Amino acid sequence: MIDIRSDTVTKPTPAMRAFMANADVGDDVYREDPMVRALEEETAALLGKEAALYVPSGTMSNQIGVWVNTREGDEVICERDCHIYNYEAGAPALLSRVLMKTLQGARGVISAAQVEEAVNPSNIHAAATTLVCLENTHNKAGGTIYPREEMERISDLCKRADTRLHLDGARLWNASAATGIPERDYAELADTVSVCFSKGLGAPVGSALCGSQEVIERARRKRKILGGGMRQAGIIAAGALYALRNHRTRLVEDHANARRLAEAVNELPGIRVDLEGVHTNIVMIEITGNATAQQVSTMMKEEGVLINAMRPKVLRAVTHLDVSSGDVEKAIEAFARISRKIRS
Ligand SMILES: *Cc1c(COP(=O)(O)O)cnc(C)c1O
Repeated sequence: MIDIRSDTVTKPTPAMRAFMANADVGDDVYREDPMVRALEEETAALLGKEAALYVPSGTMSNQIGVWVNTREGDEVICERDCHIYNYEAGAPALLSRVLMKTLQGARGVISAAQVEEAVNPSNIHAAATTLVCLENTHNKAGGTIYPREEMERISDLCKRADTRLHLDGARLWNASAATGIPERDYAELADTVSVCFSKGLGAPVGSALCGSQEVIERARRKRKILGGGMRQAGIIAAGALYALRNHRTRLVEDHANARRLAEAVNELPGIRVDLEGVHTNIVMIEITGNATAQQVSTMMKEEGVLINAMRPKVLRAVTHLDVSSGDVEKAIEAFARISRKIRS
């Protein structure tokens, strides 16, 4: 089976497994796990932040990010299709007890002007707008890159408005690999940054929340509250450390594979791809022919390709470590056979 449902499906490589098997471990709640400490230090250094905290998932990382940057009853500004609002099970309401104000972005990007208009005035009638969340790359928009200049304008605005900025950088590695802009040049614009090791980087488990020493100390307590204080976590942190050291530069291969897939399937009758929206490793594939995305997903499975339907007429393909260029050619051939059946 060729699995292009998500970049979360990657499995540890033999070299990564060997590194994990040999990992020196300790009790990380006592902060005695050398692998976790190394991972946190290297991640923080790469992002130009004082400290980082290893957590089991991107959801926990984002939600702790929201929690440490707000107080109950505050308002958080985010893009309408962002992960924090849509795919984290309502956590901002449950944990941080904040209001979410969603803005309609263009390919996942909200402008500084939109944010400026959305920040509440500071008077007794309005909730205090204390946090803006941005997502780079943007998942639901199809792996689109946030232009750094727009992020910078929003960052400046946040400073003026005494509002914090959290960056959901689950796929920040992809943005950097595609643009050549180092991760830290994005990260410097935000107070807290969440990055993920278990997507395109291919580690089995974990994300990190990065920020100032003071914020990460508070985040460590929140992680404990959520049951995310782990003991000999070095076993899994080693996978993340291996991924961080070895798998970032190869992301450009995933991007080339995504581009190849996008251009080839866009040529097929009954299928359309907005090529300008393909920036990294995600391809949104629209079915213009006579089938639903779910039906095409089922047909693709019969062809040996796993791919998810995202919307009634849109599928999402994601390239990653375990998808070769040969696999992409096979997926294209499968789409070509299906195209003959569905073109109207
Ligand atoms: C995957 C993802 C996350 C975190 O997901 P988990 O499954 O909780 O690790 C967060 N933000 C974005 C944009 C993502 O794509």
